[in-house]
Amino acid sequence: MKTILMIATLMIGLSGLLTAQAKTYKTPSWGHWDSRTITYSYEGHSKCCRASWKTAIKRWNKTKIVHLKLAKAGHKADIALDSAPSLNVSGGKLFTGYTHYSFYHHDTSLSEIVTAESTLNRELLTAYNYTKTQRANVATHEIGHALGLSHSKDKKSVMYAKNRYKSIDHQDKLALAKAYVNQ
Ligand SMILES: [Zn+2]
Repeated sequence: MKTILMIATLMIGLSGLLTAQAKTYKTPSWGHWDSRTITYSYEGHSKCCRASWKTAIKRWNKTKIVHLKLAKAGHKADIALDSAPSLNVSGGKLFTGYTHYSFYHHDTSLSEIVTAESTLNRELLTAYNYTKTQRANVATHEIGHALGLSHSKDKKSVMYAKNRYKSIDHQDKLALAKAYVNQ
């Protein structure tokens, strides 16, 4: 079986003005870590973002599907949680958060994630008046990527590409369970 180490980035943009969809979409999952216990570390020093990451971690742990825990001092974490101090412009679009990762691509099963780094854009979250809850929603979305979830077309999903207002939805839990439990 062919296994290739790949590197990718997913980003979250500002909330758009798309009309609501009545249809129910499933949150897609593309990968997973080899263990349900996954470590994280804080890379930035910003208080704003640390609180948002903490809320996001609590939310994912509450699903009881994965267990995110702080990496011990001197150990490299699986997921690095960071913040960027200034505006990020990629192809003319503004991103409030983004996640980079490397993973092994398998032809016949979900990819295996080996490193992830999620970043919140402090300046943009401030410039667009994101509340504490909305910042936590963006952080939850980015950790969702770091756990192996892709974008959902459902505006109720935390994995909606332009999510600002929603936390983890039923479909998001199902996608996580599919990636870690019911493979
Ligand atoms: Zn995203």
